[in-house]
Amino acid sequence: MKKPLFLFAAIAAAALAQQHQDSDYARLVKEWTTKPEFMSPLVDHLPQAAGIPTPKDILGYYAGAPQKLTRTADLLRYYRALAAASKRVKMFPAGQTDEGREQVVVAIADEDTIRNLDTYKGYLAKLADPRGLSDEQAKQIIAQAKPIYMFTGGLHSAETGPPEMLMELAYRLAAEESPLFDQIRRNLIVMLTPAAEPDGRDRYVDWYYRHKITEETEADRVAGPPYWGKYIYHDNNRDINYSQVTMRNWLKFYLEWHPPIMHDLHESQPFLYTFSGQAPQNPTLDPILYAELPWISNFEMTKMIGYGMPGVWTHAFVDMWSPGYLGFMSSNHNGMLRMYETFGNGGANTMKRTVTAEGGPPGANGPGMTTREWYRPLPPYKEVVWSMRNNTNYMETGVLSALELTSGFAKTVLQNFYEKSRNSVQSGATEAPFGYVLPAGQADMTRVAFIVNILRLQGIEVGRATAEVKLKDASYPAGSLIVKRNQPYGRLAKILLEKQEFPDQNLRTYDDTAWTMGLMSQAQVDEIRDKAILDVPVQPVDTLSIAGSVKGDGAWLAVLHNGANSLATLRYRLKNQRFEAIEQPFQAGDTELPAGSLLVQSSAQAKSEIEKLGLKAVALAAPPSVQRHLVDLPRLAVFSTWGSTQDVGWVRYAFDHFEIAYDLIYKERLRRGNLRDSYDVIVIPSQGRGSGKSIVFDVESKGKPIDYKKSTEYASLGAYGESDDITGGMGLEGVVELDKFVKNGGVLITLGASRFLPAEYGIAPTVDAGRTSPQFYAPGPIVEAEIMQLSNPIFYGYSQKTVPVRYAGGPLLRVPQDDSKKAVLMRFPGTEKSVLSGLMKGVAEIRGRPAIVEAPSGRGRVLMFATNPCYRWQNLGEFNMLANAILHFNDAPKVAPPATAE
Ligand SMILES: [Zn+2]
Repeated sequence: MKKPLFLFAAIAAAALAQQHQDSDYARLVKEWTTKPEFMSPLVDHLPQAAGIPTPKDILGYYAGAPQKLTRTADLLRYYRALAAASKRVKMFPAGQTDEGREQVVVAIADEDTIRNLDTYKGYLAKLADPRGLSDEQAKQIIAQAKPIYMFTGGLHSAETGPPEMLMELAYRLAAEESPLFDQIRRNLIVMLTPAAEPDGRDRYVDWYYRHKITEETEADRVAGPPYWGKYIYHDNNRDINYSQVTMRNWLKFYLEWHPPIMHDLHESQPFLYTFSGQAPQNPTLDPILYAELPWISNFEMTKMIGYGMPGVWTHAFVDMWSPGYLGFMSSNHNGMLRMYETFGNGGANTMKRTVTAEGGPPGANGPGMTTREWYRPLPPYKEVVWSMRNNTNYMETGVLSALELTSGFAKTVLQNFYEKSRNSVQSGATEAPFGYVLPAGQADMTRVAFIVNILRLQGIEVGRATAEVKLKDASYPAGSLIVKRNQPYGRLAKILLEKQEFPDQNLRTYDDTAWTMGLMSQAQVDEIRDKAILDVPVQPVDTLSIAGSVKGDGAWLAVLHNGANSLATLRYRLKNQRFEAIEQPFQAGDTELPAGSLLVQSSAQAKSEIEKLGLKAVALAAPPSVQRHLVDLPRLAVFSTWGSTQDVGWVRYAFDHFEIAYDLIYKERLRRGNLRDSYDVIVIPSQGRGSGKSIVFDVESKGKPIDYKKSTEYASLGAYGESDDITGGMGLEGVVELDKFVKNGGVLITLGASRFLPAEYGIAPTVDAGRTSPQFYAPGPIVEAEIMQLSNPIFYGYSQKTVPVRYAGGPLLRVPQDDSKKAVLMRFPGTEKSVLSGLMKGVAEIRGRPAIVEAPSGRGRVLMFATNPCYRWQNLGEFNMLANAILHFNDAPKVAPPATAE
């Protein structure tokens, strides 16, 4: 390996002198940079190279110019021009978004490397799966290989700077001639995404030009657009199961190219926070990773403080607990996630900013962000005039420093990547648990398939047992799904499938503490501590599809309700056919039909759908002689505020996936009234900022309307709903209409935080919503819930009285003692042992509290979930409760049966 080369100002100056410089650039960026110390010698100049276009040559402006943001098509136009002009640059496709925009990756390295990109891809693939390689053979591969250093920016659309900066970075990497840039091009393959969420990028840029370009002060700043991407806004960085097509495409890219480093560029902290993986750290990941992270971030801090740049810090924001962030696809697969938070203004306007002196962001250590700490030796300023160019300077100087270090130690990066991959295989062969079994023959195999297919998407190998599996403590039927830990991503399998043991009750975490897939899906996943699992013969599973079955012949089909969410899909696909549900279990030959099983006349179409949807049915000569009710479909609406569409998006995604038909409605429809004429059921997904008031009054009005409408100029606005003015919320008029809707016989269903609305505004007059104490801390643990009325149609498909649910946050429901037997459908036991995965501190506060309450009002009723049965495409075991509530909307028992518990 060549001796690492570090940059000295004199060498740089000498090299620069040889290349012609763009003097306009130097003058303008100096002007746009609000203080001299916000600039560095790495970005105060822009060399010119014959025939290689700068962003300005193509777009007409420099990256980081005031009041300039670039839409996806223009970003691509620039990169296309750059790739066409430079043999050091190559651009290739990586998929297509929900709205049909291109996802691309741009690769930059020296000419020879770019020409042989596939060879280098092959080397990395070998290091990513080193089974069969000796350390000596690995060493030979490492000698020839080069690490890919991958940048993603613009995942969060309001964080507008990274896609601008990346264009300039790409140009510089292609065009600048200096020892540093030679070293980077020779030793690394830099890759980048122009914008990680292209749909959201365009919507935000449209929004900026429509509403935000006139902002002059922090006080003027208006809310962001109602949507970024199609569904889930900010949670595109929490999509642990890769439900969103754009995120799935990035994962596919990752698993094809195996970048040992992925660096995700965000904006939220002054002036540059570089992630180093603070506690709590997931102990299953390799210790090497935890050594690498501060290695690079400390170098960046060292360089940038050396340049005199204040406000560069590390070690104190976001932890290494949840594996669900997008960039974690790298650390989850034995690479390294890196992350920045820089200081953005939510647009490209220069404005005076006040840095929060107290209170810090969630997950941040210490009292504020402007204090001097051991990890922040030169803190950010309390007040600052901040520009897009400052932000660009910081990000670009940081990433060039990271590239300086990693290009100097490229072989160390590769060696570590190999060792992490090798250790993952070895740890699975030597440390229990040695594997996981998802037994064949579970009542609902569709949720088993859900888990298996996500593991497959993550690159985890799953096999199907070719014969009965006999282990020390258990045996499993042939066909059971086997995950062996002695594979490159065996550690990730463990992380996703195990129970999460939060290491320290006193630590806080930035996101969820639990995600255990078996519990979330309510499917059986057994942890295996018997090493014999490694030798079980299996056939590899590519994707698992569950074929449904229809047993026997007869004029009627009874479709078993065994908890499959696709039962709702069947009902919707055959929407014009008459379905009934049986209210008690029924024995049909050797098959027991559980309560809630659906009855429909036999037809070729019905049989074919049952088979496609993985359902089980029995043909019968006549309908079973038990109590039945008609399963008619409600006219269904999903209500969304304009200011909090994210959790609504998860519900929309799930409804779309399961083909549940609904109208998406906003305050405009509520205020028009006569809701009962249009709808039977209104679902209010979790939304608002923890109070009924925030749902009712929603986006603050600053004296002028904020429209969200499609036009020729702003083509991406007005998607998923239009409004002349998104501010003001439903207001009290909207509350009155919801109340009338219920009193006139409608069913109002609230999920998660939306339960405040009916409780605080008297739509559910007998229910109160309280708050937990400040000591209570429960970031998304999985806890037990006890079903109080197992025969209620909501619980069709559940055979156990106790089920695992994701705890959805603080508010506590209360109903009067007299009503509780009727009203409480499910409750939290609230004991220490009822916390199944993750952290709940102060569990006694939820003891005996309702988890689902049904409150009659007038001729209708309000169904309040204290849980959120549709959380981030994760808790598919709970979703069935919501599906049942919709399918059986007019079939709630008139008088609740006596509680079976107590
Ligand atoms: Zn972000």
